[in-house]
Amino acid sequence: MEYETLAVHAGLPEDPYGALGLPIYAVAAYGFKTLEEGAERFATGEGYVYARQKDPTSRALEERLRALEGADYAVAFASGQAATFAALLALLRQGDEVVAAKGLFGQTIGLFGQVLGLMGVRVRYVDPEPNRVREALSASTRAIFVETMANPALEVPDLEGLAALAEERGVALVVDNTFGAAGALCQPLRWGAHVVMQSLTKWASGHGSVLGGAVLSRETELWARYPQFLEKDPRGQVPWEALKGRCYPERVRTLGLSLLGMALSPFHAYLLFQGLETVALRVRRMSETARFLAEHLQGHPKVKALRYPGLPQDPSYERAKKYLSAFGPMLTLDLGSQEAGSRFLKAIPLPKAANLGDARTLLVHPWTTTHSRLSEEGRLQAGVTPGLVRVSVGLEGPEDLLGMFLEALEAV
Ligand SMILES: *Cc1c(COP(=O)(O)O)cnc(C)c1O
Repeated sequence: MEYETLAVHAGLPEDPYGALGLPIYAVAAYGFKTLEEGAERFATGEGYVYARQKDPTSRALEERLRALEGADYAVAFASGQAATFAALLALLRQGDEVVAAKGLFGQTIGLFGQVLGLMGVRVRYVDPEPNRVREALSASTRAIFVETMANPALEVPDLEGLAALAEERGVALVVDNTFGAAGALCQPLRWGAHVVMQSLTKWASGHGSVLGGAVLSRETELWARYPQFLEKDPRGQVPWEALKGRCYPERVRTLGLSLLGMALSPFHAYLLFQGLETVALRVRRMSETARFLAEHLQGHPKVKALRYPGLPQDPSYERAKKYLSAFGPMLTLDLGSQEAGSRFLKAIPLPKAANLGDARTLLVHPWTTTHSRLSEEGRLQAGVTPGLVRVSVGLEGPEDLLGMFLEALEAV
């Protein structure tokens, strides 16, 4: 089925009253009538027991996301950060290593350094070209971690090449697909990634109203190479033998939800479920507007450099064309200096915020905000210059937006 069809039908549960929408199960615990029924639910993991582990509203969201990402399994979380942590926690043990792309989302770098570091996990950062990643792999590498589109450099990695390398070396390819907009722009699992995590806070929610995240995975023989799936679990079963491909999402759910409690609220699950119904429509329109702005602003005398993957001369154009269904809602302008960026942002009557994927166009100056904790050298390496302005294009009329940009450029 096409994405748009799945977006409005997938995951909607049958309702005893015929309700045509997703009921919110604002419930912590689920009762059982007999001892036997309780024992059965604990033994099989089927049905509901306690909302920290799963609830019917979040389960509906998981089913919708599963369909939209072309995944076999989905687990929802309270935020993108929680999803990143759980996705990796299920793959790692003390002493393991992760090879990650340079220029990741800032809080991902923080999580890797300050939390995975506590667990004795080392992360090596490389240019995410398959050859560079190959050089960085060691016998202890358990995951390769990249983003669908680096932010704010807007570079797209060679997903197919990385997936082939991961398969060859028996290491999981984990993709942060936040910029893939819940599969509407990109579906990395279909290109061979083993695991996708994403922040639902951005384009999936679409209105900047709630936090959420998810971990998605597919059937794979890869898990038979991870010791945590081959040793007996506390119940005495060997996860790979008992569950096959489901051993990974079950571990994600057990560690991330049952034990760490990073559970999504059913109220938020409801809003995200609804947001997904229009995500394809929104990102297509935003992509058209972003391209319109990029075409009209490139070559403007005040714009020193402009990046938009949908411009044929952009270094990411070929990869974006291959991996994305549209060129996306993100573009960057380099105005040459922090002073120029400051004047521009003061003059433009649009919100300045460190967020993305809102219905409103959001602008940010990464040098002094999202990337300010990195050294100057680190910022430049991530493609962040003092004059760079990042734009997450919203749903406003394209002519209105162009007018605002041109007027604000006058102030530079
Ligand atoms: C926002 C974001 C995250 C973190 O998600 P939250 O929902 O804010 O916790 C992770 N990765 C990327 C690429 C993001 O943009």
